[in-house]
Amino acid sequence: MTATVPNDSTLSYVQPTATSPWGTYLSQVDRVVPYLGHLGRWAETLKRPKRALIVDVPIEMDDGSVRHYEGFRVQHNLSRGPGKGGVRYHPDVNLEEVMALSAWMTVKCAAVNLPYGGAKGGIRVDPKLLSQKELEKLTRRYTSEIGIIIGPQRDIPAPDVNTNAQIMAWMMDTYSQNTGATATGVVTGKPIHLGGSLGRVKATGRGVFVTGREAARRLHLNLDGARVAVQGFGNVGGSAAELFAQAGSKIVAAQDHTGSIFNDRGFDIADLVAHVKRTGGVGGFKGAEAIDGESFWDVKCDILIPAALEAQITVERARRTTAKLVLEGANGPTTTEADDILAARGVLVVPDVICNAGGVTVSYFEWVQDFSSFFWSEDEINVRLDKIMTGALKHIWDTADHHKITLRTATFAVACERILIAREERGLYP
Ligand code: GLU
Repeated sequence: MTATVPNDSTLSYVQPTATSPWGTYLSQVDRVVPYLGHLGRWAETLKRPKRALIVDVPIEMDDGSVRHYEGFRVQHNLSRGPGKGGVRYHPDVNLEEVMALSAWMTVKCAAVNLPYGGAKGGIRVDPKLLSQKELEKLTRRYTSEIGIIIGPQRDIPAPDVNTNAQIMAWMMDTYSQNTGATATGVVTGKPIHLGGSLGRVKATGRGVFVTGREAARRLHLNLDGARVAVQGFGNVGGSAAELFAQAGSKIVAAQDHTGSIFNDRGFDIADLVAHVKRTGGVGGFKGAEAIDGESFWDVKCDILIPAALEAQITVERARRTTAKLVLEGANGPTTTEADDILAARGVLVVPDVICNAGGVTVSYFEWVQDFSSFFWSEDEINVRLDKIMTGALKHIWDTADHHKITLRTATFAVACERILIAREERGLYP
């Protein structure tokens, strides 16, 4: 008699908790299974990454010493196409986090119907402690180590927390040197002169604004005069804040690793953006009063945009927020229990897997432009982005209305159906 193998999603190499990233992701998958019909048979696929690579990244420091860093690249699912997803440099990066981020990429790409699977990478490092030369060495060695699984048709990295166009340029160059041909399509989010796309830098923030605009319309919330609080004022939060300010909203609070600031009349956004560019964060901005970190969550606002790291909206903060609308610019900013509290309180959440999909959508445009060596105008990019995001959100909203489920579960329903149809049609090998 053959022994039955348990199919309970327990993986020996991670120990997720209810609020940790992989634990949060697993509970999101569990909620969608009842809506997958016969495809539910394949749901276990979603609960295991296809492939996870852990690499040692040794570099020689400027002082002559040698240091080793932990690097990761996880390809969660490749059923719909090559892996796609950013690379994060942060001292808290670990395998479990990268797994969850890669899985959210699978769902995100399918939710907007991009022909990609999901992947993610990261290095456990505080890049602020490295010189430019050390950062370049770290990036090149990491790229070389993960070179065995990435490629324009295999898995395409991009920027994420603490990585940028310069880092993508080094990645592209390293991969190209190793393979013997310039391969611009191996990463996205590159500088414009190296096959980058216009509009990519602000694309994630623009997508947050587009989905926010559509959600506000359905809530009959006028953006003109709406009060907005933003956590994280980098690429995502900063760009989204600029667009909301342009639409007449008042950005009344902002928070990042340098501090928390408040101005009841709304910040002068151009001044704030200039300050962040100059100093590296919102802390110390003259046009606002400094508040303590926890008070940020109590600021009276209509729209809350978490655009930093995971698990920021906790049960406590979900109970306190006065926001009517939460736009998840970050990946995984809300714990599952907090998500339920927001839903019970009637706070609408536009989930990460659609809200912040603007970045990867323009990454897709960049990849397509690189292959065709034909580049589009910024206007064309922004118009196409708006159309894709609006259409995807409408489809998700119809699904949510049909099943009477949250936008998060509806996004998972739309995405997981696409992923598992591909899974089923490709068939189980051998
Ligand atoms: N890091 C971004 C995200 O989390 C963009 C990924 C990409 O463009 O591939 O969606």
